[in-house]
Amino acid sequence: MRCKQLELGGWGRTTMASVSAYRPERVSAAADTVRALDAGSVIAYGGGRSYGDSAVRADGAVLLTERLDRILAFDEDEQVVVCEPGIRVADMQAFLIPRGYSLPAVPGTGFATIGGLVANDVHGKNHDRHGSFGDHVCWFDLLMADGTVKQVAPDSDGALFAATIGGVGLTGIIVTVCVKVLPMPSNAVQVTEMRVRDLDEFFELFAEHRDRAMYSVGWIDALARGAKLGRGVLELADPSPAGLPAGKARKLRVPFDMPGILLNRLTISAFNALYYRRAPAGGEVRQKSLTEFFHPLDAIGDWNRLYGSAGFHQFQCVVPEEGGPSGIRRLLEEISASGSASFLAVLKTMGGEGRGHLSFPMRGYTLALDFPARAAVTDLLRRLEDITLDYGGRIYLAKDSVMSEAGFARMYPALREFRAVLDRVDPNGLFVSDQALRLGIRGPGR
Ligand SMILES: Cc1cc2nc3c(=O)[nH]c(=O)nc-3n(C[C@H](O)[C@H](O)[C@H](O)COP(=O)(O)OP(=O)(O)OC[C@H]3O[C@@H](n4cnc5c(N)ncnc54)[C@H](O)[C@@H]3O)c2cc1C
Repeated sequence: MRCKQLELGGWGRTTMASVSAYRPERVSAAADTVRALDAGSVIAYGGGRSYGDSAVRADGAVLLTERLDRILAFDEDEQVVVCEPGIRVADMQAFLIPRGYSLPAVPGTGFATIGGLVANDVHGKNHDRHGSFGDHVCWFDLLMADGTVKQVAPDSDGALFAATIGGVGLTGIIVTVCVKVLPMPSNAVQVTEMRVRDLDEFFELFAEHRDRAMYSVGWIDALARGAKLGRGVLELADPSPAGLPAGKARKLRVPFDMPGILLNRLTISAFNALYYRRAPAGGEVRQKSLTEFFHPLDAIGDWNRLYGSAGFHQFQCVVPEEGGPSGIRRLLEEISASGSASFLAVLKTMGGEGRGHLSFPMRGYTLALDFPARAAVTDLLRRLEDITLDYGGRIYLAKDSVMSEAGFARMYPALREFRAVLDRVDPNGLFVSDQALRLGIRGPGR
């Protein structure tokens, strides 16, 4: 199969790599490609919405899944959909929602693919209630290092199943997925937005509402300090029985890399303060389309260019419930004291562990935010990693571009089981990414 030389990277654009890209249209062509590459290295590349280096291998090959994007079956009695991995979340939702269903876990962008959702065991704003994407996967077909395709389910090869859910593409290429869907009465949610004056109030409101609302998410002004530390807006939402008329979504686009100088403490503080005041002090109930609620940032095409050509890092960690509030406070204090500008941070609750060896979730609180790529930010990210470790938390592989090998090993205790599966199914290390090498998951001696 012919390949093309491309410069590809993660959504944060700090990890660009020159790769040989293959774009098969059929699983059989993907299998031929894998067989032909048996002495090299390859990794799956879905929608490219991971932020760091998990879907690229510099000077190696990537298998683009974008043309493996068919819906193969929909069984309404069993409430399952079977599809190829390259279909995007937005396209799957456009299929499911008119039929009265939704994907069970929906990330903040509709440009991610189903393969990416499995490989990062993605969570949505309903993690407390419904867990992460992997919790709903019935089985998948995996293109293995020897070029064969194997159907994998929890009761057929439980270890390979657990290694592939959240396994960042390292066990092989997922070529078919069967996933259970969630009933959804309409295309809209009823959202309550509340202004939250500080971090303590956030935790009080989470405690009060996390078992009641189906969806919840907090937007935090990460530059606020002192008594205002952790102020923001909490959104709680439940499916709306009545839908909204299908409107034409307005789409803006960032046409070029913005000069980095425009992003500074002053401009970002002003934006965050405006957002905080947007929610009335007494709260407000609004109906929003599922698209607007799930994917607010998708309304601005190529928004990653706002951070300039140097790109940006995203940091996302989860800290366990016990000690969580003080862990999140320490992280926010470190961030606001650093002055490193970041647009709104996201604070969410998480319900429990995922099914994968490298699944990110644990019961507690997860904090996510962006930092423009500057020299001082790398040191800040190291300090945030240390705080996360002090509180027994972990950093999300989908967002990572700088985590240390030692930190990673401490955060992911099932790494040994994960490696044992890789040794069994891919002893020569065909499937490898730059992230896997950086974190010592694969590489010399492994
Ligand atoms: C704006 C935005 C909001 C986000 N919000 C959330 C959120 O709310 N919750 C959350 O959990 N994540 C979130 N993410 C992260 C995103 O959902 C994950 O990174 C997801 O994995 C991206 O899917 P992708 O198809 O773009 O995968 P890629 O970025 O292309 O790849 C990610 C990983 O999946 C592997 N992979 C992809 N396809 C396959 C396949 N067919 N077989 C095997 N491995 C494969 C790749 O090798 C790589 O390791 C967000 C990202 C963005 C940009």
